[in-house]
Amino acid sequence: MIVAMQEHATEEQIAEIVARLTDLGFNVHRTTGVEQTILAGVGTPAVFDAKDFELLPGVAEAHRITSPYKLAGRGFRPGGTIVKFANGVTVGGDEVVIMGGPCSVESREQIFLSGALVKAAGGQFLRGGAFKPRSSPYSFQGMGLEGLKLLREVGDATGLLIVTEVMEISQIEVMLPYIDVFQVGARNMQNFNLLRELGHVRKAVVLKRGMSATIEELLLSAEYILAGGNYDLMLCERGIRTFETYTRNTMDISAIPVIHKLSHLPILGDPSHGVGRRDTVPAMAKAALAAGADGLLMEMHPNPDKAVSDGAQSLFPEQFEKLVEELRVIAPAVGRKIAAPVSVAEQVSV
Ligand code: PEP
Ligand code: MN
Repeated sequence: MIVAMQEHATEEQIAEIVARLTDLGFNVHRTTGVEQTILAGVGTPAVFDAKDFELLPGVAEAHRITSPYKLAGRGFRPGGTIVKFANGVTVGGDEVVIMGGPCSVESREQIFLSGALVKAAGGQFLRGGAFKPRSSPYSFQGMGLEGLKLLREVGDATGLLIVTEVMEISQIEVMLPYIDVFQVGARNMQNFNLLRELGHVRKAVVLKRGMSATIEELLLSAEYILAGGNYDLMLCERGIRTFETYTRNTMDISAIPVIHKLSHLPILGDPSHGVGRRDTVPAMAKAALAAGADGLLMEMHPNPDKAVSDGAQSLFPEQFEKLVEELRVIAPAVGRKIAAPVSVAEQVSV
C-alpha cells in the first residue's frame, strides 16, 4: 500500500497516517522527498480500503499494491487451472472448447435439434437456459424443470456436456441431477449469496462478467466460489456496457489476456452477448480465440427468426458450423487447437 502525501502536508498529518497504517498491521517505510513524502505500507492486512486514506487530511493519493483477491490470483496457481470433466473434456489447457446452443430451451424438438447441430459442428457443450433472467417480467421466463430434463436427455443422447443458467440458491438442488455446468449470468455476477452456495457444490461453474463490472470485481466474485472450495471455475467475458450503441454490448477482448495475466482461471469468450448481432459474432469469436480464450460460448438456434429470446444474435446452424471450421484453422496459429468432438455410440435422433 502506497500513500503519497500532499506537497504541504504537515508532520502531524504524516504521523497520523503512519499511525493508521501501523494499526492496520503494516510496516511503514517513509521516503521524504524535496516536495513530497511517500509512505509505503508493507505487509498484508486482511481487510482495508485504500480509498479511506484518500479522505484523510494531507493525503494526495493512496494505492493498494497487492490484489484484494488471493485464491483467484495467478500467484495462487501459477501453472493455471484446468477444469476436467468426466468424459475427458478439459478447459484451460491447450485445447479450446466450443459451447453452443440456443439462448433458451423452447421445446423438445428445438433442443434435440440444437444438440444434434452442436455435435455435428464438433462442439463439446450444449448451452441453453431453462431459467431465464429477462429484462422484462412479461418476456418468456424459461421452461424450468421440464427444460432441465430435456437438456439432460440431449446430453445423454449426444455426449455433450450441459451448461445452463442458475439464477437463485433454491434452483441449485433442483438442477444438480440434470446439468454439468452451472452458468452464473451477467445479472447475477454479484449475487454473493448464490456465489457462496456454488462454492459448496462439486460441479463446474461458468461465471460471466457483469455488464458493468470491472475485471477486479469479476475476480472478487470468483473468490467467493473458490473460497467455498469449488475450483472447477471458468470465467466468461460477455461484453460490457459502454457509450457505443451500435452493438448490444462492447465485447472487451482485452479482458481475456488481462485475466490470463491476473488469474489462473480459464476464461471463455461469449461473442453472442458481446455484440448482440449475428453479423459480427464470427469476427469477435475469432478475435476472442486469438486473444487467448479457453473456450467460446455461442448462441446458435435451429431457426433464429423464430427464437423466443436473443434471436438476432443467434447464429444460423450453417454459420455456426462454418465458424467452428474457421476457428479450427486459426487455433494452431495461436498455439492452440479446437477440442475434439465428443463421441457417443448412438446416433442422435430428433
Ligand atoms: C445467456 O447466456 O443467455 C445470458 C442470459 O447471458 P448473460 O448473463 O451474459 O446476459
Ligand atoms: Mn441469451
